This record gives sequence, structure tokens and C-alpha cells, in this order.
Amino acid sequence: MPPIYSKRLPRRILHSGGLNDQQRNSPCEHACPAGTAIQSVHFLLAEGKTDEALSYLLSRNPFPGVTGRVCPHFCESACNRAKHDEAVAVRALERYVSDRGDAPWPKPAPSSGKKIAVIGAGPAGLTCACQAALLGHSVTVFEASPLMGGVPRQSIPDFRLPKQVPDYEAARALKAGDITVHTNTALGRDVFLPELTRDFDACVIAVGLQKERRLAIPGSDLAIPAVSWLKASNMDRRAMTGKSAIIIGGGGVAFDCAFTALRLGASNVEIVCLEAADAMRVPDEEKRQAAEEGVVIHNNYSATAVSKRPDGVLTLNADLVASFRFGDDGALHLETVPGENASFNADVVICASGLQADISALGEGLPALTPRACVEVDPVTLGTSLPGVFAAGDIASGPSSVAAAIGSGRAAALAAHKHVMGFSPELCLNVSVGDDDMVTIQETLPLAPAHVVEYEEMLHADWHERAPRHSPTRPTPASPLLPFRELLPALSEEDAQAEAARCMHCGQCSACGNCVDACPGHILDMGENGPYVAWPDQCWHCGCCRIACPDGAISYLFPLTMMV
Ligand SMILES: Cc1cc2nc3c(=O)[nH]c(=O)nc-3n(C[C@H](O)[C@H](O)[C@H](O)COP(=O)(O)OP(=O)(O)OC[C@H]3O[C@@H](n4cnc5c(N)ncnc54)[C@H](O)[C@@H]3O)c2cc1C
Ligand code: SF4
Ligand code: SF4
Ligand code: SF4
Repeated sequence: MPPIYSKRLPRRILHSGGLNDQQRNSPCEHACPAGTAIQSVHFLLAEGKTDEALSYLLSRNPFPGVTGRVCPHFCESACNRAKHDEAVAVRALERYVSDRGDAPWPKPAPSSGKKIAVIGAGPAGLTCACQAALLGHSVTVFEASPLMGGVPRQSIPDFRLPKQVPDYEAARALKAGDITVHTNTALGRDVFLPELTRDFDACVIAVGLQKERRLAIPGSDLAIPAVSWLKASNMDRRAMTGKSAIIIGGGGVAFDCAFTALRLGASNVEIVCLEAADAMRVPDEEKRQAAEEGVVIHNNYSATAVSKRPDGVLTLNADLVASFRFGDDGALHLETVPGENASFNADVVICASGLQADISALGEGLPALTPRACVEVDPVTLGTSLPGVFAAGDIASGPSSVAAAIGSGRAAALAAHKHVMGFSPELCLNVSVGDDDMVTIQETLPLAPAHVVEYEEMLHADWHERAPRHSPTRPTPASPLLPFRELLPALSEEDAQAEAARCMHCGQCSACGNCVDACPGHILDMGENGPYVAWPDQCWHCGCCRIACPDGAISYLFPLTMMV
């Protein structure tokens, strides 16, 4: 059996079933919860085809401007290029393409005549709506708030994500097909699940997590819940000039509160959290920013009480933590160091101890829940305990990320499609954009998942010249005049193209021609679509092509018969 090439797919794939004939894949794409076609984007961008690159991004993710700013870049953490020199700046490229590119939606598949209700217009709900519309269904979205976009629109601060980005992308998502939105319309208040399941062919619940956890400690009422505080601060920007703040919590929300408080003029901001410094769930760049902006972090402390002194100053008491873990039901199991405690004083105490589902607000007739009070979904069918009802995003997974919500919204759209069309949930479907720019849906056979190519398997990686990463850096300190202005600048056109060209296209052929030159039997040739095996019967299985490939794009079917 001669070498098998793994090449870039020539078309946009919305949902890959068996048509995805790539035997090999890169760790970045494998790690992206949104399913972004990262390599295609880099191929196109390196050639200056920004609009086309955007059409590839949009085929999986209607919010690339949001993820291109706030995603914790799972892709970059997995990037093989980090072992070569530095990881490719995938997130910054995603933002560049979404800011600069312009691409229409493909034409939806022919109308199915089926109606799907989506509850919640956050990243999960709108992705689901957009994808279900592209699959040819009529979609109605019910959103409780006056605004679309979910947490990215309501709570993530402007200096990380300017509001016009989710506003623009949510409005664009609605243009994907037959989508109607009812804002100010809440499940459990204005509409109810039993009537939605009667009036629609399928329902997708994507309401996110709305209830803030309160600490079960004396004086917890004196601590302001973090997300409510962030939402309010995003709206009114009420000054904190000269005030000090303590934030309880060790995740991204706590850091958002700390940076916001500083921008509102707080004189001193401290974070108190259970986690050790290396276990805090925030990207390294935010830890660096905290250090640069003077946020003091007290690790390994568990809050025990909040109290108010007669002069109005708040005191947070905390015990030193020996170890902790969260149980399946979300309950904290804690061991403290006896006799080791501390107290911290501030004008304001903000509590960022997590979000949970606000189940009681969703009305009667809900599907079964998990021990953590999320909606339980079958991992294969994505269905809930109620027929025709699906769930996506944080309400199904618990606290997660924007990219994960997008991935799950896309999966829920396909699951709802199979349900309304009367297909088995296990049926393998390929949804792609054809040459006529129309979405086509094909039944297909499932394939084994692609092999994820590690750096060590790229036997000629040195062919890729070492080159420094082009990634925007945060100016320090932030401008005192415009403290809420977006922190990270955008990549320039030149830098974006050069950065996209740094991608080593792990596991996918970039048509360098090395294999053709390296084959001692001259059985390989270069065609319009890159290299191909011109004389299959003549292959000796010597492996020279594989050794010469800088991308790790060649595989063999084993066992081999060596003919040398
Ligand atoms: C402050 C904060 C900062 C974050 N920062 C990041 C980050 O930097 N990067 C990252 O990847 N993730 C971040 N996250 C997590 C991320 O925002 C979520 O994982 C993601 O938004 C979940 O998407 P979703 O669509 O499931 O839910 P949501 O974004 O919560 O959207 C749910 C939507 O449903 C609506 N809704 C709620 N109840 C009802 C109802 N009864 N009827 C109708 N509609 C309803 C809501 O108004 C909302 O619009 C952050 C979360 C928070 C709270
Ligand atoms: S969504 Fe996140 S993980 Fe996926 S490609 Fe974009 S930055 Fe990377
Ligand atoms: S080099 Fe390119 S293809 Fe390889 S892991 Fe990094 S971004 Fe992905
Ligand atoms: S050597 Fe070059 S042309 Fe051959 S498979 Fe690898 S990347 Fe493609």
C-alpha cells in the first residue's frame, strides 16, 4: 500500500461525518472545543485571502470576534510549534480575520418545513439557531434579556471585549437563514416548555447559568455577587475612587472584577482564593496583567466570615487551606491548617464563587437534572429526558467557555435536525458547502477519528524556519484616560500574514514537494491538488517521503511489505 496523503479539505464542512477523509489532524484543531478549521484559516490567510478565511471560521463559529478575543486559546496551548520555537498566535489570527474579513453566509439547505425553538441567545443558543437555520429549519429564539449575546455581551468587561463585537456578530448570526428572535421573553415567565414542545418540532434549552453561588459563611450578604457587580459596572461604570476591594475567588471572573475595580479608580485590589498560585484557572497573561497592575493575590485561603466594623470597613476572615476538592454535587470538601488564619480589610467585598443554574426560574415541565442541577443530556444523542428537547452550553455542561458553548450549540443543532427529520441519532451526516455555495447534507459512513500528529512525528520539522511569534502585546500601563478601552491591539496585515505562514500544518499537506523529490523510485508526482502517487504498484515502502515531509502528513497502512 503506497503512502496515504492527508490534505486540507477543499470545501467548508459544517459538520463532519464520513466525508472528512483526513486521516491525520493537528493538536490545535483537536483541542478547539468550537471545532474551528484552524489550518484552513491559516492556509488562506497566509495567501492574503481574509474573506475566504472568514467564511471558513463562520462555517463552525458565528462568534469568531468574541472567541478571537476572550477564548483561553486551548489551540495555542496544544500547538506543536511551541516545541519548535513559539506557539502560533491562533487566537490573534482569529480576531484579525473576524475584524478584517467580510463573508456572506452560504445559502441554507432547502426548507424542511420544520420549526425549532431555541431558548437563550448566548453563544450556545445563537450558534444552534444559526446552524439549524443553515440546515433548512425555521428557528425561533426566546431570550429573557433585552440583548442578544449572553455572558460575552452582558458581563465580560469592555477592555477585554468591546460590546460592539458581540452585538455585530449576534446580528450577523440572525442573517444565516429563517431566524426570528423574541427578546424580553423568558422561559418560565413568558413562555413555558410544555407549550413550546407542543408548538415546535424540537426545542433546545441554552439558558446558561444565571444564579450566583453565595458562600455559606456568616456575613455573606455583605459580599456583592461578582457577575451582578460586573453587569452593573459594565452599564453604569460607577466610580470606586479611593476605595479598596477584596475579591473572593480564583477564576477568570475574579480577575475581571479586579481589573474592573482598578479601572473604576479603586486604590487597592486584593484577591483571596482557595487555589495555589499554579492552580488558578486563568490564562498566564491575566496573571501577568494582575502582577503589572498591582493586584495582590492571597492564595490558599478559604473565607470563613465577613463582618462590618463601626467605621463601615469590611473585614474578611479566612483560614489557610491544606487541601480542597469539589464533589460530584459541587460541594466543597476542605481541609484547613489548624490555627493558621488571616483577616483582610476593604471598603468592598466581591464574591466570585461561581454560577449555577437557576432551575426554579425556568418553570414547570423541565427535563431531568444532573447532581449539579444542570440539564442532563445523553452524550450520544444530546437529547434530554424529554423527547425532542435538547440542551446546549453551560446549562448542560456546567461552567465552561465560550468556545465550548459554541461547539455544543452546533452539536445540538445537528441532533435537533436528526430528530425533526426522523433520522436515528447515530446516523452519520456530512454537512458541507457545495460549489454552488449551498449547504448540502449527505448521509455517510462513519470513519475512525483522525490521528492527532505530535511534533515528534514530524520527521522533517526543521524544514520550517525558526521565526518569532507575531502577537499583539498589551501596552503597560493602560491609558488612564480611557481605562475601558480594549487592552490588546490588533495584528497588522503584514504581521497577520507572516504569523499565519508560521503554521506548520501538522498532519496536513502544504504541497511543499519534498516528498516528490525524496522518492528514490520516482513514483510520486505533483498535480493540481498537490502530490499524488502516480505509480502505486512501484512503491517500495522505503518511507523516504514520510521522512522528508515537514508536516507529518503522510501515513501508511500497516503491515507494510518492504520491497527493497
Ligand atoms: C464574568 C464572566 C466572564 C467570563 N469570561 C470568559 C472568557 O473570558 N472566556 C471564555 O471562554 N468564557 C468566559 N466565561 C464563560 C462563558 O461566558 C460561558 O461559558 C458562555 O457564555 C456560556 O454560553 P451559554 O450560551 O451556554 O450561556 P450564556 O452566555 O449565559 O447565555 C445564556 C442566554 O440565555 C438567556 N436566558 C437566561 N435565562 C433565560 C430564560 N429563562 N429564558 C430565555 N432566555 C434566558 C440569558 O439572558 C443569556 O442571553 C465567562 C463567564 C462569566 C460569567
Ligand atoms: S475558539 Fe479558542 S481554541 Fe478554538 S481556535 Fe479559536 S482561540 Fe483557539
Ligand atoms: S503549527 Fe499550525 S497546525 Fe500545527 S498545531 Fe500549531 S497552529 Fe496547529
Ligand atoms: S512532503 Fe510536502 S508535498 Fe509531500 S506530503 Fe509533506 S507537505 Fe505535502
